[in-house]
Amino acid sequence: MTLTYGNVIPPLDGNYHLKDYLKVREGFSWEQVEKDFSWYESGKVNIVYECVDRHVAEGYGEKLALHYLHGSKEVRCTYQELKDRTDHLATILKKYGVQKGDRVFIFLPKNLDCYISILAAIKIGAIAGPLFEGFMEESVRDRMLDCGAKVLITDPVLGKRITKSDFPDLQTVFVVAEAEDCTEGEVSLYEEYRKTRADQDVIEWVDLEDGFVIHYTSGSTGKPKGVLHRHRAMIHQYITGKWVLDIHEEDIYWCTSHPGWVTGSVYGIFAPLLNRATVVVNGGRFRAEFWYDIIQRAKVTIWYSAPTAFRMLMAEGDEELKSFDLSSVRHVLSVGEPLNPEAIKWGVEKLGVRIHDTWWMTETGAHLIVNLPSQSIKPGSMGRAFPGITVGILDESGREVPVGEIGQLCVKADYPGLMKEIWNNPEKYRSYFPYDGWYVSGDLAYVDEDGYVFFQGRNDDMINSSGERIGPFEVESKLIEHPAVAEAGVIGKPDGLRGEIVKAFIVLRPGYNPTARLLEEIRLFVRSELATHSAPREIEVLELLPKTRISGKIMRRVLKAWELNQDAGDTSQLDGGVCLRVALVD
Ligand code: ATP
Ligand code: MG
Repeated sequence: MTLTYGNVIPPLDGNYHLKDYLKVREGFSWEQVEKDFSWYESGKVNIVYECVDRHVAEGYGEKLALHYLHGSKEVRCTYQELKDRTDHLATILKKYGVQKGDRVFIFLPKNLDCYISILAAIKIGAIAGPLFEGFMEESVRDRMLDCGAKVLITDPVLGKRITKSDFPDLQTVFVVAEAEDCTEGEVSLYEEYRKTRADQDVIEWVDLEDGFVIHYTSGSTGKPKGVLHRHRAMIHQYITGKWVLDIHEEDIYWCTSHPGWVTGSVYGIFAPLLNRATVVVNGGRFRAEFWYDIIQRAKVTIWYSAPTAFRMLMAEGDEELKSFDLSSVRHVLSVGEPLNPEAIKWGVEKLGVRIHDTWWMTETGAHLIVNLPSQSIKPGSMGRAFPGITVGILDESGREVPVGEIGQLCVKADYPGLMKEIWNNPEKYRSYFPYDGWYVSGDLAYVDEDGYVFFQGRNDDMINSSGERIGPFEVESKLIEHPAVAEAGVIGKPDGLRGEIVKAFIVLRPGYNPTARLLEEIRLFVRSELATHSAPREIEVLELLPKTRISGKIMRRVLKAWELNQDAGDTSQLDGGVCLRVALVD
């Protein structure tokens, strides 16, 4: 398939779960989806039952549930084994007094113990709090304190980042290790596994409104917020897993995110297991050759990642790509940041598949705007509202604006994935609902006549230059079309004459030198392709862009604070990499 710019990209031929989008959209009801769950008949609710135990009860115990690959190590876990292992750990947690609603934090690398711990906690009605393995002491402390963590499950390495006396509510620390590798007061899980007999009926039945997982937002715009989700979200997670991830019986599914980010749990654990997929589990830092190797070895068919990863793979060049067999991949998805058209082009040309953008946020619990595999993709658009989701573009007074006009991206607050609450912060929770019946996302967008939604930027990131509103995404996407540019972050810099000017921070691809001539060439490239007012008046070269630690998103507010020599506010989520300014060579 070749991609002509500006054209829509038609779907590939395929056996998709959801073919006729418009027809399904018209007749869609969430109640209909509920009928696919065992609780619809039995009245007994627990998301982990639907993710694991149910498949065993229905005769799929031998099917591979989790496939862990890391370096030369491989571990396989069937649905039966996953049931047994979650029952076992759940029994231990119960023995130690963990009760419904207690917060159980999980601070582990992306491995089977991490997945099993999250599922085991939820199985007994507790609220799981997965923490990203890259979090340092402060990030861990903030979250566990905010939530009053009662239990922590960790390993000897990560556990060192925690000072137990800091947490007044913390009762038990379980360590995935033998007793000799634990410090005083810690409980060796290996020992407990030997001592405790698993109770096969350990599961706790709950209410659809009960909380099951708490996730902190990425911290792109400020201090991360603790978002509590309820079991009801499984309805939304399951059906988007089926229709958007398009999971079929034979699929091998890999989501590259750690469960500490909402994508890594909702679409790394719950949605694929609800759909009885085989889930690839792989952690570690990003390296192109490792990633391609995982796809090749595990024969991944569905791959869910983020624009930052796709941009890094693009910047690595073709050599690496060509030395692996990636032909198993049939469906690729992206989330977290705007997906640059250049990345879609790369996918089509190099992988032979389209990259499907999806839009949602921690607070919404599941996908809201998507590109279904059976729909045409319009590069630059996030896709269309999922069936059952009503998107509205509202002005400041809460009125819907006409087609094509930019406004606040809002969604009717009547869908099952929506958060239950912001932990310890009812005021913040209320602030998402300033207009009757609408959830306000904080993003800006417009919708075209076919219902495709075009992301423009976050509220705070929009640039106002000489009376023109400029979304940073459009400029960044154009910048990375230039062969010398690997990544770009664009901000508005205050300017006496124009209000703001567009300033771009870029990272160059290997082999390019930051000469004044090159920067001028890049500037003129954007000007000739977009518009004079969108062309950056200033371009600065960095070695790295500041990104969120957990989800790898460009932190524009940090770029802006640096530019203005201001305090960048809460930077606990800033990735450890130091973003060096690069001197120009002439
Ligand atoms: P915080 O709320 O702490 O500032 P965050 O908003 O980045 O951080 P997340 O919940 O991880 O936390 O991300 C949701 C946001 O990510 C969305 O509001 C949107 O700005 C951005 N986003 C997610 N998916 C997409 C997408 N497909 N296209 C454009 N932006 C996206
Ligand atoms: Mg947010």
